[in-house]
Parts: sequence; structure tokens; C-alpha cells
Amino acid sequence: MSFIRMNGLKMHTRKTTIVALFLSLLPAMYAVGGDKSRWNEMIGSAYTDNRSYALLQQICDEAGGRVMGSPSNEKGMSILVEELKSLGVEARKEPFTAPGWIRGAQEVSMTVPIRRQLRSIELAYVDHHETFEAPVVFAEFGFDESYASIDVAGKIVLVTQQRPPEKSPLLRLECIEIAARHGAKGILFINDRNGTMTLEGVSNFEGKPSLLPAYSITFEEGKWMERLLKDAQEVRVTMKTESRCAVLSTANIVATFPGVSKRKIVVGAHFDSWDMGQGAIDNGIGSAILFDLVRLLKSHAPKNYYTIELVWFNGEELGLWGSKDYVVAHDKDDILAMINMDMTGTPTGFNAMGFDEFIPFLKGIATQLSGFDLKDGVVNQPGLSSDHQEFMLRGIPTMSMQAHLDDDMGKYYHEMGDTFDKVSKRYLSDAAAIVGVLVGELANDRSIDSHRRNAKETAELMKKFKLDDRLKKMKEWNFKEQ
Ligand SMILES: [Zn+2]
Repeated sequence: MSFIRMNGLKMHTRKTTIVALFLSLLPAMYAVGGDKSRWNEMIGSAYTDNRSYALLQQICDEAGGRVMGSPSNEKGMSILVEELKSLGVEARKEPFTAPGWIRGAQEVSMTVPIRRQLRSIELAYVDHHETFEAPVVFAEFGFDESYASIDVAGKIVLVTQQRPPEKSPLLRLECIEIAARHGAKGILFINDRNGTMTLEGVSNFEGKPSLLPAYSITFEEGKWMERLLKDAQEVRVTMKTESRCAVLSTANIVATFPGVSKRKIVVGAHFDSWDMGQGAIDNGIGSAILFDLVRLLKSHAPKNYYTIELVWFNGEELGLWGSKDYVVAHDKDDILAMINMDMTGTPTGFNAMGFDEFIPFLKGIATQLSGFDLKDGVVNQPGLSSDHQEFMLRGIPTMSMQAHLDDDMGKYYHEMGDTFDKVSKRYLSDAAAIVGVLVGELANDRSIDSHRRNAKETAELMKKFKLDDRLKKMKEWNFKEQ
């Protein structure tokens, strides 16, 4: 586990003297925008070879949902490493340990007014607890003020995840903290999507045992309880789980294409997923696109000016553990940029994520790929809660693709329906074609004047895009500046 101390961060500088001078005299190996024949080969190959689709099917159907540290996760990693070998690429495992969580049998059942097992899924880091029964009370959106008129001590709090009017919704971890402070014994979150779906996720981002037993329940059964409680009727529920928190050993998978320069571009996608479904969209597709990128680079652009490192991160869903470990382990590496792919469908543009120096480059790529429908062009808006986050917080420029998924594909996010049948081959081909060109060009463009931000610059960047508040709530704000 790696808690960041930004202010202790050592910024390393590039050795830009004699070596760089010598290298700058070499002919460009892959001139910017100049080698369209190689682009065209890559793009064509992204559409005529669909091994990445077959790999994704194998990972989804033979390994299944890949929670960090689980047997399915291990099996999926083995399949991936073997398939990379068949491309002639030796990938290595970079092991790490992290606060993990092992799912056991769990049950949430109504006992009053009728006996019925509810469809539920516990949030990760809920630690095993004995069966208990308690009355349920409704606390609306879970804000502190909702507790003024209700007594929740020793009871189970029911909270809706629908959007509160004129307020931003609380994170589930905030709802848990507030309910625990008021003496609640457990908490039920009513999912805001209808269609009998729950929502897997974590109870906190620190990997600590949850303050309360916390479960996601369906919109339909949640609204039913809400109606009964608003009508002053008694509702009682039992809860039980055998899941447990444990420190786990696992690994990221890394493949490297050494360049002329050691300065590198990291391209990442999280390999782990939730386990009710198969983690096909989140993030089997990102993992498969990364596999296809390896294939394209191996065949069409194995040697570039910058080093390219492809990383399948583990433990993203449980708390970004793999990317956090990677950034610490590679702190001395000179990383030009990190490109993240998470639920990447058909690209519609690029995201410079606040690192302005990459905007002209990305615009150039978007303009030259005129046959693709990159209608979003280049946006410049960083987000949080995927593997780029730790790179960004430690000052390393990050970027991603804007992408489209058909409605049905994103609908089953963190649910049982995230299965291979949802994946369109087209997502993989479209994304691999574009990311292939993007990475190939970036790895040979020496004109970009980029630098790693120091802690002060990074804190300012986060504030500029109003991400500081959320980072503080997630307990991911490690800057001294307020
Ligand atoms: Zn994801």
C-alpha cells in the first residue's frame, strides 16, 4: 500500500546534455505525421486481426470477474501472459501487496412485514459479522441534517442514491461515516437505476474495514421499503456476511518496448474487475485494447525514440492499488506521459486532462485521422478514480481518449450484466487503431515541451478543475496547501 506524501516528492530532472545533443542529430525514426504508411498498416491490422476479441472472450468466460487477489484474477493474468508470449512478447509481473477483500457468503433479508431475501451486494471492505436483525429507518439522501428528526441508534439506515434536489450527492463513504456517527448498526443504499440492479463498489478508498455493514439494494425493493417507512409501518431486516478484509499479494503485468531514450510513455488499463459479472466492459475492453496495442507495436513499430511501457494494473476497483504501487516503484523513471484506458469504446476524441502542452499534439492527431469520427476533438478536463489518478497527483502528465459505448453497454456498470456478450468487436478495432497511431506518434515526437509538475503546481491544477474537494472526501488529498 502506498500513501502518497507529495511534499516529500523528489522531482527528478532529465539529463539533457551531451546524450540529448547527440540523439537530436539522429534522423527521426518516426517523423511526426510523416510516416502515414506505417499508420495505415497499423490501422488496417487493427481491423483485420481480432485476436484481442478472442482473448477477451477467453478471459471473461474461462476466468470470469477478476477481483484483485481472487483465483479468477490469477487465472485471467495467466491467460494474458500466455497470449502475450504467443505474440513474442515477454511480459513480467511486478508484484505488490495491498489491502484486499475476500468475498464470502452474504445475505440481507426482510423479516417484517414479510419474510423475503432481498437482492443485495455488499460494498467491498465490509468485514465479516454475525447475523443481526434491526428495525430500518429512512434517512433520505444521507445528509447529516436528515438525522435531526430520527433516532437511528442500533438501527439500519436506508439511504437513497437518487440525486438530491439542488445539492450534490454524498459519496457512499460519506453516508457511511455520517450514519456511523449517529450510532447506526448498518446501512442500505437504494440503487438509483431501476431494473433490479445493484451497484458494486467500495465502502471507502483506504482499504480499511468498513465502519458499518453496508449493502447496495435494488431500486425496486428499496423504494418498497421507503414507501412502507414513509407510511409509518415497521420494517425489519437481517444482515450477515462472511466476507473479510485481508492484506493480499498480487501483481501488475508489464511489457516494455525499449526506445532510444529511457524516457517513457506509460499506457495503462486496469485488468481487475468486479465479480458479479465478467468485467467485460469495465475493463476487459481496455485490457484487450492494450493487448492489441502490443501486437501492433510488435509488428509495425517495435523501435521508437521514447520507451513505451504497457501496464495492466491490478486492484483498480478496490482502491487503485496497482497504479499506486507502480508510481511509487517507478518514481525515479522519467515518464513523459501516462495514457489511461478504462471502459474505452469507440474513440470520439482525446482528453489532455489539464496538461495543456499536449493539446496541439492531440489536435494534430485528431486532424490527421480525418476518416474517424473524432467529433469531440480535444477536450481538456481531468477526472478521478481511475489509474491515471495517482500519476496525475504525482505530477506526471496524463491523457485518455473520449469514447462512445452504446447505451446497453454502460448500463450494466458494476453489475451482473457486464458480460462478454455486450462487447462490440468494433470498440476494440476502433480504439486499437487510434491508440496505435497516438502512441506511435507520441513516442517519436521530440517537440513536446512537457515537464513533471511539482506538488504546488499539481495542487493548483486540481483546484483549477475543482477536484480538490472530492479528493479530500476520498482522503486522497496529500498536499500541504489547503
Ligand atoms: Zn474501470
